[in-house]
Amino acid sequence: MPIQFADRMATVHRSFIREILKVTEDQSIISFAGGLPNPELFPVADLQAAAVKVMEESGPQSLQYSTTEGFQPLRQFIADRYKEKKGIDVSADEILITSGSQQCLDLLGKVFLNKGDNVIIERPGYLGAIQSFSMFQSNFLTVGLEDDGPDLAELEMVLDQNDSKMFYAVTNFQNPSGLTYSPEKRQGVADLLKGRDVLFVEDDPYGELRFMGEFHKPVVRGYLKDDGVLLGSFSKVAAPGFRLGWMVCSGEMRDKMIIAKQASDLHTSTFAQRVIHRYVTDNNLDDHIEKIRQRYGNQREVMVKSIEKFFPAEAKVTQPEGGMFLWVTLPESVSAMELFDEAIKNKVAFVPGRPFYVDGTGENTFRLNFSNSDETRIEEGIKRLGSGIKEFLTKS
Ligand code: PMP
Repeated sequence: MPIQFADRMATVHRSFIREILKVTEDQSIISFAGGLPNPELFPVADLQAAAVKVMEESGPQSLQYSTTEGFQPLRQFIADRYKEKKGIDVSADEILITSGSQQCLDLLGKVFLNKGDNVIIERPGYLGAIQSFSMFQSNFLTVGLEDDGPDLAELEMVLDQNDSKMFYAVTNFQNPSGLTYSPEKRQGVADLLKGRDVLFVEDDPYGELRFMGEFHKPVVRGYLKDDGVLLGSFSKVAAPGFRLGWMVCSGEMRDKMIIAKQASDLHTSTFAQRVIHRYVTDNNLDDHIEKIRQRYGNQREVMVKSIEKFFPAEAKVTQPEGGMFLWVTLPESVSAMELFDEAIKNKVAFVPGRPFYVDGTGENTFRLNFSNSDETRIEEGIKRLGSGIKEFLTKS
């Protein structure tokens, strides 16, 4: 008898990036494809000391089941940090600790999405969100990104012409484009959402990785009062292997999220939460983040400079002020999928842009990651890619 899978599995595919990462496991390939932090910056010794201390001080509790909401002192730390760093009021009670911020997307889907519900996402959009919301058989509507955030006229049109359940956005150094919403666009989004029944979901795993330019308040609580959900993560400021993220939400929404999380995994790893809390208590997280900013800032600088030197003038590239990604747009005639195959022959990899566009466009775009390669490999990789693009342009 054939195996009968659930309908939802028919529309969701394996993550394209995970497939590409298999190709790039070959060490001779310079890969700008992954979205990985630089492992040299993981605070291994400090986390080791924290783990030992947790075991010594609270071994049994740290190995026991715990509350779904998460470890209270860690939630307090996150709430205090919002006040101190972002100037927004969040209480510890409003923080739900999750297993990575990716789990927030799953919980949001469970709590909000029925089959066929409209979800507005950015164009290009975060693949992990596309995959996660697709599991709930949602229908995607998209809003194009300009250099300083979403096209507000398009957003207004999409909002006016459709009933939508949520608008999911990555407002700082977006994955994949590296773009950031300006204060004007943040205000514009808040104004457009006012009085509508559309949940704004602001995903911000990269906000603290700013190398240059001005910090902006989150849309949620900064511009949109009370409404909206804000997501955060320790993956990019400490280590992704702990799988620690969180969601800021309150009231009835928080209650529903807790029910969904209980049904999913009861709670996030008690041990991981206590180790991270011990780590941020015994160390200065700001000092650590400053090291990451310096390093990624240099890597980004080398990538931008190398692109100026080796890419043809027709290639348009975003100039992110933080985060981990650059976004390249080639002339319309070029297929980044085809370029990918050529690039692999030259031992360099990137992620073709099309999967980030649910409407099937974006063929001539691709994403470059600068956090996970050192400066020498960045320069060499961009050189190889540049000559590949030039050859491709001549041929096409
Ligand atoms: N949101 C965005 C925009 C991301 O880029 C990522 C990481 N790729 C995540 C969420 C998930 O991060 P994590 O689950 O490690 O917190």
